[in-house]
Amino acid sequence: MKSNSHIPFNWPHMTGKELYYIADAHFKGRLAGDGPFTKLCHAWIEENSGCSKALLTHSCTAALEMAALLLDIEPGDEIIMPSYTFVSTANAFVLRGGVPVFVDIREDTLNLDESLLEAAITPRTRAIVPVHYAGVGCEMDTILSIARKHGLHVVEDAAQGVMASYKDRMLGSIGDLGTYSFHETKNVISGEGGALLVNDETLSVRAEIIREKGTDRSRFFRGEIDKYSWQEVGSSFLPGELIAAFLWAQLEEAQKITEQRLSNWRYYHDLMEPLEASGILRRPIIPAECRHNAHMYYVLFSPDIDRQSVLESFKKNGIDSVFHYVPLHSAPAGMRYGRAHGNLEITNEYSERLVRLPFWTTITVEQQDEVARTLKNAIG
Ligand SMILES: *Cc1c(COP(=O)(O)O)cnc(C)c1O
Repeated sequence: MKSNSHIPFNWPHMTGKELYYIADAHFKGRLAGDGPFTKLCHAWIEENSGCSKALLTHSCTAALEMAALLLDIEPGDEIIMPSYTFVSTANAFVLRGGVPVFVDIREDTLNLDESLLEAAITPRTRAIVPVHYAGVGCEMDTILSIARKHGLHVVEDAAQGVMASYKDRMLGSIGDLGTYSFHETKNVISGEGGALLVNDETLSVRAEIIREKGTDRSRFFRGEIDKYSWQEVGSSFLPGELIAAFLWAQLEEAQKITEQRLSNWRYYHDLMEPLEASGILRRPIIPAECRHNAHMYYVLFSPDIDRQSVLESFKKNGIDSVFHYVPLHSAPAGMRYGRAHGNLEITNEYSERLVRLPFWTTITVEQQDEVARTLKNAIG
């Protein structure tokens, strides 16, 4: 996003090889999806995450839509998810007539509060969608055991979770299905892009079919069948090779990108420590069993701080900073298509207190110092 500020909110990081790989695909005249670069990306995700099958998609939104199709979500089926998330988590299921049931979040990680799940389950419940906010893992062991007990599917929205893990398992590889985003604002990017991670092997064949317009074309290309045909409801969810070529340049550097971001994250964390000590804000909390990926740096202002005036002060000083999310249960479409379970007290309160500081892979310590200085001055 173009901005007149001298410290933008995000700056997409390029590794330098993106155009080289795109030129390669161009030169070879291989542009449609599922070519050599897509295969490299699939293999990387499978190896890196341990999922049984990875499939590139146009976006994490598209991967979530595939998940809803794969789970045969029907009108009236309920899907439990946090209200504190991006709209796509809910939209994908609403497109199939599903009803999002919004539960509250934990105070420490702002992830779905697993202790509220059992009470939110009804005979119509089909799936639970934990969202790994800021690349910090949800309490997956508890979520999975509740899901198993009630015969529910688990779809991890790991849009923000590439390269992060929970108890040494990569986010996205723990539930039946997982979804990644490679949107420009995420850690590893391709402009728009995403992936579906299939962990329940029994869903693999159908996942390929749904992604290829409902046909078994993938099996045909592998020589497993002698013609392909329309098998079930699907769509075109696969990106072209130019996107995959770009993404490959990023995946090759994913480790380095993550290390660099973690270093920036720790620098902010130290800068914010005195502000936390004086009760102005609370810093992010990372549970011991989670290895995060420094997707973002946020602070939670104490209730007596006027967030709006801090945001305005950033703006006046040429610094872009944002808050999110408008809780889905209180958004017009959320009220129309979903249902709130309980009072969602933490969601309501924390969404009013949270601010995301400018953060990207190559942000400098000088820029971070300036953000911290401006923040201190704004509070007075
Ligand atoms: C970014 C994001 C998405 C959507 O990702 P796209 O690739 O832009 O479709 C979905 N869920 C969460 C939690 C996200 O942060």
